Amino acid sequence: MEKSKKIQILKDIIDIESVNGNEKAVADYLADLFKEYKISTKQVAYDTDRDNLVAEIGNGTSKVLAFSGHMDVVAPGNLADWTTDPFKADERDGKIYGRGSCDMKSGLAAMVIAMIELVEEKTELNGKIKLLATVGEEVGELGAAQLTKEGYADDVTSMIIGEPSGYRIIYTHQGSINFSVASKGKSSHSSMPKLGINAIDYLIEFYTKANHEFRKTVYTNDVLGDFIYNVTMISGGEQINSIPEKATLEGNIRTIPEYDNQKTIEKLNEIIEDLNKEKECNLTLTIEANKLVVKSERDSDIAHIAQKIAETKTGQKVPLLGMPGTTDAAEFIKAKNTFPIIVFGPGNETPHQVNEYVDVDNYLDMIEVYKEISKKYLYM
Ligand SMILES: [Zn+2]
Repeated sequence: MEKSKKIQILKDIIDIESVNGNEKAVADYLADLFKEYKISTKQVAYDTDRDNLVAEIGNGTSKVLAFSGHMDVVAPGNLADWTTDPFKADERDGKIYGRGSCDMKSGLAAMVIAMIELVEEKTELNGKIKLLATVGEEVGELGAAQLTKEGYADDVTSMIIGEPSGYRIIYTHQGSINFSVASKGKSSHSSMPKLGINAIDYLIEFYTKANHEFRKTVYTNDVLGDFIYNVTMISGGEQINSIPEKATLEGNIRTIPEYDNQKTIEKLNEIIEDLNKEKECNLTLTIEANKLVVKSERDSDIAHIAQKIAETKTGQKVPLLGMPGTTDAAEFIKAKNTFPIIVFGPGNETPHQVNEYVDVDNYLDMIEVYKEISKKYLYM
């Protein structure tokens, strides 16, 4: 494929505004592009105007290398802070600017183009490459959860997620839990507190106990760092001279293998059950999001192949690392079989920022890198 066309494809999909929605327009665009090269695709609807996209090339089922990328982007933030329109890709100084240029329409486009070029060049593949392009990654990995539930990842033997890592390969990332605790009391006049139950008092008991529990020892992982627990929002009470009937708090937890999601949720439940038993309080826990820790092997074939090829192709050192954030991998690891996952895609430190960009060279390099990884992985 011509270089100018590769750049145009990326620009075209940046121009499609897909802020947590409208991913179907991106899926339609990519499906049409695949069709030009006689590659069939399947669109898996999540909701109105929200389609995931699945495409396959190659033969056999002995090895299935999945390429995955999300088609949604985050909101552009303050438009006045952008030098150019975030939904009109702008190429200047060797960079392409626009919302999603880095996170992660460049990774997605690079994967799609790599597949097309492998077909164009009639490369014999001893196995399959499967694209799993998802909706709603930024708001809870919705598409990845759906595709996994519907079995689309069950035959995968290795996966690359093209999130922006630059010339670094991520093989493990933290899990994440969003939770809330509601305290239900009984209101009464503040001059007659004995007639009521102070919901704030008991919420604070939970707050203190949980802080103590989750911070009394430092749970840490060599690669991912510390287990992190924080209450981030709190509210309660209705009126200054009433004993509060309701109070709630919300928090975010970043988990690691040494203190994983299951253990964390069990501990939260235990604290709440104990308090509800001991006192007259009525606390309830709700888990709003539960994204698992991803702990692929550092020594997987896919990690080694990717590292070696990337270093040879780019002449840069490409380290294998862990990262704090979460990705669609947290859903794909729920597939029937376990398989190693790496996060490796073009990009830099600008995701979710104004004036987000990707280096054109990095984007074009990654197309070659994905092709080489595919050839090597599917020939081993
Ligand atoms: Zn992303």
